[in-house]
Amino acid sequence: MRSIAVMNQKGGVGKTTTVVNLSAALCALGKRVLALDIDPQSNLTTWLLGPGSEELEGTVAELLQGALNLEDVVMSTGIEGLDLAPADLRLSGAERTLAGEIAAETILRKVIDRADLAPCEEDPGFDLYDFLIIDCPPSVGMLTVNALSAVKEIVIPVQAQALSLNGVANLRRVIGVIQSRLNPQLRISGILLSMTDGRTNLSREVEETTRRHFGDLVFETTIRENVRVAECPSHFLPLSDYAPSSPAVADYRKLAEEVLGREGQEKVPLQETA
Ligand code: ADP
Ligand code: MG
Repeated sequence: MRSIAVMNQKGGVGKTTTVVNLSAALCALGKRVLALDIDPQSNLTTWLLGPGSEELEGTVAELLQGALNLEDVVMSTGIEGLDLAPADLRLSGAERTLAGEIAAETILRKVIDRADLAPCEEDPGFDLYDFLIIDCPPSVGMLTVNALSAVKEIVIPVQAQALSLNGVANLRRVIGVIQSRLNPQLRISGILLSMTDGRTNLSREVEETTRRHFGDLVFETTIRENVRVAECPSHFLPLSDYAPSSPAVADYRKLAEEVLGREGQEKVPLQETA
């Protein structure tokens, strides 16, 4: 199973949108995906479960508190092939209690390691999921550190209209620290320009600057800005179901293919390339 955290300490850059639409695109290509919500705002959970998401029994909070196993909280979604480990506001309480605990940074990793995701006894090598994709909160606190300790890959969405190169450089430093102290396998799979507008000079300039600075770290695929993308969460659907003819549907499909194509490749190391 490949494991990816979608993270950026800035809010509003397209993390949750990337998790939903990349997951849906991977599922459309026949992959099985487990999405895990580790943001107390739980936008991912609301999007995937709809109005019924207020009365959750088991959430990621109980995983971090050791009260439940991953298998106990996983729910199916309306998207074939996509399951969800949901969250709600309890997660911010869980984060506070974790702060004082020993080795709290690696609790999620242990939960995932001990999860029974190969339920077929005849074929113990069979993974129930091809991908685990984690939606991170917009900060580098205990929850994000837990996500980064638990995965092997990171996808960093950045907003082409308001890119902060310093922000991305800071993020790489944080990731470098986690890599050296907690998770040596961690790699950046790619920086994703998540809202581009080819008609504006600003967007084109930001894309050029990002590629010049971060080279191969930047996904070739960019996601076009499109109003349908912003509308689909309130309809509780991925873009491909809400607006199949939106040009961004093709972008997410291309992104999914690019993510699949990077499998097994040497991932980009964390050292500064610029
Ligand atoms: P984050 O999870 O990083 O806070 P979101 O995924 O919630 O960011 O996205 C922030 C806002 O930008 C949301 O309103 C979302 O609908 C919108 N958005 C994201 N990607 C696009 C896009 N390609 N085109 C138009 N709006 C987008
Ligand atoms: Mg979000």
